[in-house]
Amino acid sequence: MYADVILPIPFDSLTYLVPNPTQPAPRDLRGCRIIVPLGKNKIYTGIILRTHENAPQGVEVKPAIEVLDQQPVVNEQQFAFWQWIAHYYLCPLGDVMKAALPGAMKPKDEAALKLASPRPLLRRGSTMRGGGLMTNNPNGHSPSFGGGGGRPLSPFQQKALDEIETSFLHKDVTLLHGVTSSGKTELYIHLIAKFLEEGKQVLYLLPEIALTTQITERLRRIFGDRMGVYHSKFSDAQRLEVYRRQASAQPYQLILGVRSSIFLPFQRLGLVIVDEEHEQSYKQQEPAPRYHARNAAIMLAHMWGAKTLLGTATPSFEVYHLARKKRYGYVQLTQRYRDMQLPTIEVVDTKEAKRKRLMKGAFSPRLIEVMQAALMRHEQIILFQNRRGFSSFIECKTCGWVPRCPHCDVTLTLHKKTASLTCHYCGYTTRIPQRCPACSPPPSQLALGGSPAQSAFVSVGIGTERIEEQLSTLFPQATTLRMDLDTATTRAQYEHIISDFSQHKADILIGTQMVTKGLDFDRVSVVGVLDADTMLNLPDFRSYERAFQTLSQVAGRAGRNNTFGHVILQTRSADSDIIRQITQGDYWQMFYEQMTERQLFHYPPFYRLIYVYLRHRDDQLLEHLATDMATKLRTAFGERVLGPDRPPVSRIHSLYIRKIMLKMELTASIDKVRQTLTAIQQQIQSMPIAKSVNIYYDVDPL
Ligand code: ADP
Ligand code: ZN
Ligand code: ZN
Repeated sequence: MYADVILPIPFDSLTYLVPNPTQPAPRDLRGCRIIVPLGKNKIYTGIILRTHENAPQGVEVKPAIEVLDQQPVVNEQQFAFWQWIAHYYLCPLGDVMKAALPGAMKPKDEAALKLASPRPLLRRGSTMRGGGLMTNNPNGHSPSFGGGGGRPLSPFQQKALDEIETSFLHKDVTLLHGVTSSGKTELYIHLIAKFLEEGKQVLYLLPEIALTTQITERLRRIFGDRMGVYHSKFSDAQRLEVYRRQASAQPYQLILGVRSSIFLPFQRLGLVIVDEEHEQSYKQQEPAPRYHARNAAIMLAHMWGAKTLLGTATPSFEVYHLARKKRYGYVQLTQRYRDMQLPTIEVVDTKEAKRKRLMKGAFSPRLIEVMQAALMRHEQIILFQNRRGFSSFIECKTCGWVPRCPHCDVTLTLHKKTASLTCHYCGYTTRIPQRCPACSPPPSQLALGGSPAQSAFVSVGIGTERIEEQLSTLFPQATTLRMDLDTATTRAQYEHIISDFSQHKADILIGTQMVTKGLDFDRVSVVGVLDADTMLNLPDFRSYERAFQTLSQVAGRAGRNNTFGHVILQTRSADSDIIRQITQGDYWQMFYEQMTERQLFHYPPFYRLIYVYLRHRDDQLLEHLATDMATKLRTAFGERVLGPDRPPVSRIHSLYIRKIMLKMELTASIDKVRQTLTAIQQQIQSMPIAKSVNIYYDVDPL
């Protein structure tokens, strides 16, 4: 017997001979794990895709080493879902498997292989209605499900809940468009309780960064042990545990998880909630599969005949567009819970303040004044600066030389505390040079009194670290916390900062994007956006949409609980339309204007983008191959092809990059597009010089 095996390599499957397939008993091996040799001396664990008796022609078929399972560990629904991901996102099944299975099920981890027989799980009996699984409820009592799983809803919330339930009768997907702090989470809780009561499973997706102890504990209090949490920062063993449990006779009824939890096995999925659906981090960028977890979750729900609820205060255009076209249901929550006011957003023109030399570093007099007053009232402050490190880069005072990463096409970022320069793409780190290599002679040739080291450079641009330094002079009495990729490298550090801040161990929290995500602090009355322009000036057709989302989110952190919220937004383009739309919360106007442009220039959601990337060490060869590929693509797709271009960062990890853009009509068959792309890729890669070029796709890039 032969088995087609999916392996964690970029292929769909490879065929192996299965010796003694009837040991211990004849069985269908689809979905079981199997250990196979690969190449000269590698051993991999794969998943059997199918078994058959057709000996492959003209290739040597190696015998497999061992079949590990009696029962499949991947079910039919998962196979169908993997297949969809591979097809839609143009990647091999092997890549999908790599993303879908917990590490401990994959090769090299011999210990995990011995886990083939499941550990005894919680005792059998009471899955459906409360009962048995609740014994470990930390509160010691089973929550009553009769009146819903959460607190009583406000009339507005109740109305929204009724509308959602009505929408579920007619639509597979419903958008819940609710302002920040309107109680969306409270609505989810009521819905989850209802679905669990019907014996259905619920998947509750959150962006990586928003899945904090805050939300986990809130849900744990209500759903106790019926809830499993699935997190990419969990150890492989923990992830395997959740996976096994979901495949067992006693699965968790509710999974609270990040994007990869869409790959868990489900048994009776009834509802998928995607919170903060607009979040960019739902899209996996690297490595393949480059899937969008919101879109994939909608497909997953569809396969189960389940409902999807997308929640956000600032919908993505893709979703809002479909809601307006009535493909998705649409429910609004325009009031904050308990009629709390939305924060006032005050725009401060920094161009003016700069001209009058009134800026103190990154701080305008108005921001300082508002912060001062809040500190007097013992209220807390969040400052948002979209760039970490001390400065963007440093520059030679004499000749303007800027240190760049030797492996990537980017400037190095100054980190002052560690006196180092770091590449934010590959992590390359080096010390600040003693003198400018471009214009200063080496020390032996220096004349007497040669320039002292530090003063040879100026730092350009302002990062979070520099803000922190400026705060210590502006507000010497205030205590500060900083949250960015440097201070919150691990989940524990991240949780620590959040917990310290919510216990008011610091007055001011300064951070990057990280501080914008769904955090619920009681005592924050002021939010300062230090420089809104960095977000508006990005060369990306989505930059306004994103700026609107991010700035509304960060503003929403202010005044959540009985404190009046005040947002100070510093910008040099105070009178631009987009700034006005943000301050007035005029999503509709922003959407309308941007959509006109999107349609005109053939961008999503009117067209589907596919980026074709080529990577190689040799820039010239790459240019040649990329041009060749683009020419072939043009023969097939004509005007829909743009490029090849060098992306803004055109070399990473010593590999040069070219990008070809495809703008496809939404009506174009993705199957046909895939066939054409694959054929052209094969033509390119069949050339001997092109053997080592790396070609991959990004469908619906973000
Ligand atoms: P959102 O998810 O829309 O930002 P949340 O669900 O986090 O809003 O609610 C915002 C705040 O209001 C939270 O502190 C929450 O505890 C409180 N809240 C919302 N709805 C209710 C309710 N029905 N009963 C009690 N408190 C509520
Ligand atoms: Zn110089
Ligand atoms: Zn680098």
